[in-house]
Amino acid sequence: MSLRDTIKDKKRIVIKVGSSSLQHKETGGLDYTKLDVLVREICNISNQGKDVVLVSSGAIAVGRRVMHISKEEQNAADNSVAVKQACAAIGQARLMMTYQKIFSEYNHTAAQILMTKNTIVDPLNRFNAHNTFSELLNMGVVPIVNENDTVATYEIKFGDNDTLSAIVAALIDADLLILLSDIDGLYSDDPHTNKDAKFISEVEELTDDIMNMGKKSTGSKVGTGGMTTKLQAAHIATKAGADMIIANADDMRIIHRIMDGRDIGTIFQASKDENFYLADYVAEMEY
Ligand code: GLU
Repeated sequence: MSLRDTIKDKKRIVIKVGSSSLQHKETGGLDYTKLDVLVREICNISNQGKDVVLVSSGAIAVGRRVMHISKEEQNAADNSVAVKQACAAIGQARLMMTYQKIFSEYNHTAAQILMTKNTIVDPLNRFNAHNTFSELLNMGVVPIVNENDTVATYEIKFGDNDTLSAIVAALIDADLLILLSDIDGLYSDDPHTNKDAKFISEVEELTDDIMNMGKKSTGSKVGTGGMTTKLQAAHIATKAGADMIIANADDMRIIHRIMDGRDIGTIFQASKDENFYLADYVAEMEY
């Protein structure tokens, strides 16, 4: 059986979408068509009896738009951290309201989980978070996760949702992590500048060569993640025992195509490491 054939049998899936995949590029406004298809795809996986968790970015970007603040204005402000955190508080609620509305149209319930590094590093917090995820998934609810940007400053920040989604996958023993972004997957070099860059469809092992490819590829300008953070996510997810796929969120119907086992995006094969201890890894992580 090929690696792609095993995707159909996955039981617990974490899907991560970046801010740039949820917005119209020209205006920064939410792309409701994309959101609708994303939610429909997730509800359809849930209807197959599988557990699904969505890690969604967009809090800060949505909040900025509500308050008519440009990214440049935000960054130039004397109190830019506070502005960012205020925007996250405004945007997260707005984003959840939109998700709740669409999920309910498909007769599904969504819940919100906001995390910081402490959620993983502190044993009691980790235990509680693990229990909450388990209970929500037992109830057939779709947890929607984001970093708690309103209170997280650099000491307790994951920094990007690529890493956060892999940490969530590890915490809840997911068997698949799908990172949806504005890139097709991993290339041997930056395809924008090198026309000979080769697309890599399957990665069996995260060798140094593969890790170095991340440094050459460009990422999005809207979210915080580039290819480097995606390979970091692959490191965490595969060691925790989950396969990971990077794919392009241009058309959200890509989700069921991936779940059908089609050769889409780049797949990283799980390689469970019994010595990988999530709390220690997160404690040592630098943002
Ligand atoms: N947590 C941030 C937000 O929701 C985004 C982080 C990221 O894009 O990686 O705005």
